[in-house]
Amino acid sequence: MDTVDKIGYEAVIGLEVHAQLQTQSKMFCGCGIVFGAAPNSLTCPVCLGHPGALPVLNRRAVEYAVKMILAVGGEVRKHSIFARKNYFYPDLPKGYQISQYDSPIGLGGSIQIELPEYSRDIELIGIHLEEDAGKSIHPEGGEGETKIDLNRCGVPLLEIVTRPDIRSPQEAHRFLSKLKLIMQYLKICSGDMEKGALRCDANISLRRRGEKSFGTRTELKNLNSFRAVERALAYEIKRHAAILDAGGKVIQETLLWNDDDQKSEAMRGKEESEDYRYFPEPDLIPIKLEQSWIDEIKSDQPELPDARRERLAKEYDITSYDAGVLTGSNELADYFEAVAAQVEDTKRVANWLMVDVLREIHERKLEVGEFFITPNMLAELLCSLESDIISGKMAKEIFREMAASGKSAGAIIEEQDLRQISDSTKLTAVIEEIITQEAIQVQKYREGKRQLFDFFVGQVMKATSGKANPEMVNKLLKEKLDG
Ligand SMILES: [Zn+2]
Repeated sequence: MDTVDKIGYEAVIGLEVHAQLQTQSKMFCGCGIVFGAAPNSLTCPVCLGHPGALPVLNRRAVEYAVKMILAVGGEVRKHSIFARKNYFYPDLPKGYQISQYDSPIGLGGSIQIELPEYSRDIELIGIHLEEDAGKSIHPEGGEGETKIDLNRCGVPLLEIVTRPDIRSPQEAHRFLSKLKLIMQYLKICSGDMEKGALRCDANISLRRRGEKSFGTRTELKNLNSFRAVERALAYEIKRHAAILDAGGKVIQETLLWNDDDQKSEAMRGKEESEDYRYFPEPDLIPIKLEQSWIDEIKSDQPELPDARRERLAKEYDITSYDAGVLTGSNELADYFEAVAAQVEDTKRVANWLMVDVLREIHERKLEVGEFFITPNMLAELLCSLESDIISGKMAKEIFREMAASGKSAGAIIEEQDLRQISDSTKLTAVIEEIITQEAIQVQKYREGKRQLFDFFVGQVMKATSGKANPEMVNKLLKEKLDG
């Protein structure tokens, strides 16, 4: 919130998010949904808006909407209706979009966001169902040519609208990440902003700190990544503040964010809802939900991110921060629990996941589910460490080798004869030999040159090809040198 604090204004931000639901087929017809399919290959008379073709509601889309509403603690309305939102756009062949207006399926609810210094709830106005429009493509070098792909026409969308509760670009970013995470846990949306599965518009206004009324807002469109949302909002805050400071008035308008040039550009004046001439969709009957069906969905809900984070922190005795990182995806949390079940020191498991496993996964640009070092393989490595077969340093090296070769820890330990030497008789013999050889250094050490201790550790390690148990070496060396 630093930018706003400095200039004495408070930002008032609301988000409108559109999430593509991962159903097999579209919202009102049987066409499939495949990202990247050949243009216009997934279409039929219904989604192309041919005369006489009638929509049939996809039950799964309604189920997903209910899952989301329940997950954010909103009210699932047992009676809701679709409405026609009329507007012309080249990629909207019907000339209207089937949406929900004054009788949506979900009301209220909230999402908790966590920032480094605090956490708070962002209230939702509601959640509704609608269909997506097609896509206009402007090919590079196409000299003003526009191509239309209607594969996206009729893909089910959830529209999630927040109250103007958000106070900074960082909070907006956190909100979107959390929303994405919840939908991923529910398995209803991939949350992939780059592929357009999650899209966000933002409205923003400024007011003097302590004021209750709202300033004039602008709406930002074309926010294609979490970073773009953050940058666009920060840009608008500065722009509004400069206008207000100069005694000017902010114009209510819709702006297009240009992420390449890092600035917003006027798009059009803001249309009001009456411009869309909403009316109840005559081709569809109202959505009526039985309480028993809602209850069934409720009993099938998975454990959600907040609950899982709390449980992991408690059950495995790790910090809430660590639990937050580990529940950053369902797959990572599953991975952690699978390893932690087999290893005694669960804090060590958490550290290994957050440092070593995540590093390998990021370096190799993999998803957690694609990582070839399975939980059982990592558990085997950590158990070898726990039972002193290998040292901590060896474990790190073996892990890198596992990542490079795909071999198990056991196989690498055997092949390269990496078992650490924890046999005190053997180690004592090595140490005694070094003490005899290095008589001058021993003399100096005993006269007070204590920093030579590391030199002796190094000699033992060299003599054992790095395989001596470091803790035992320390202990035995002290006994022999000082005793
Ligand atoms: Zn279709």
